[in-house]
Amino acid sequence: MRLLITAGPTREYLDDVRYLSNASSGRMGYAVAEAAVAAGWSTVLVSGPVDLPPPAGCEFHAVTTTQEMRDACLRLFPGCDGVVATAAVCDYKPRERIAGKLSKTGGPITLEMNKTDDVLAELGAHKEHRFVMGFALEAQNPRENALQKLRRKQCDWIVLNGPSAIGAETNSVELIGADEQTVAHWSGPKTDVARRLIHWLSQSPAQRAAKLVE
Ligand code: C5P
Repeated sequence: MRLLITAGPTREYLDDVRYLSNASSGRMGYAVAEAAVAAGWSTVLVSGPVDLPPPAGCEFHAVTTTQEMRDACLRLFPGCDGVVATAAVCDYKPRERIAGKLSKTGGPITLEMNKTDDVLAELGAHKEHRFVMGFALEAQNPRENALQKLRRKQCDWIVLNGPSAIGAETNSVELIGADEQTVAHWSGPKTDVARRLIHWLSQSPAQRAAKLVE
C-alpha cells in the first residue's frame, strides 16, 4: 500500500516578498502521514510551508505554491494506491507576480485574482482504480457543501470538519462516503483522528481491503 497525502497551506505570491496564504498548521496531514507510516504503509507527503518537521519514515516533498503542489501530486499519484488530501490550498492567486517589491501608491490598490488549479479535482479525474479522500472545511451548510465537493472532485470519501480545525490540536470530523451516507464520526487530538482514519481505511468492507492491503 502506497499512500499520497497533501498537507499544509499553499502560498500565492503578489511580488517577490508578499504572498496570500492561510493559517493551516499542517497538523492533520502530518498526523495522517505518521499514522500511515506506523501502519507500515509506504507514505508520500506533499506539504506546503509549515513549522512541523517531516514525519520520520515518509517520502517528503516540500512545495510552496498551488502549482507546485499540483505538479508534485500529478507526478506522484500514478505510483500510489490512493490520496488523502488534507491541504488547505489557496483558491485564488494574483493574476500576475510582480518582480521585486510592489511600491506603495499612497492610495488603495486593487488586486486582480485568478482561480488556482484544484489539485484534488485533477487527481479525482485521473484516479482510475485509485481511491480519493478529500477534506472539506465548512462554515455554512456544511453537509450540503461537503457533498457537492465529494461529487465534483470525484472523491470516494470526504471528511467534513469545521473552521475550528484550522491551526488547532484537536478535530471533530464526519466521514461521508460516495453514497452520501455517514460512515463515522471521530473527535479528539488530530493524532487520534488520523490513527482512526488510517485504521478505518485498512479495514473491511472487502472492496476497501482489496484496494489497500497487499
Ligand atoms: O478548498 P476546498 O473546500 O474545495 O477543499 C476541499 C478538498 O479539496 C480538500 O481535500 C483540499 O485539500 C482539496 N483542494 C485541492 N486544491 C484546491 C482546493 C482544494 O486539492 N485548489
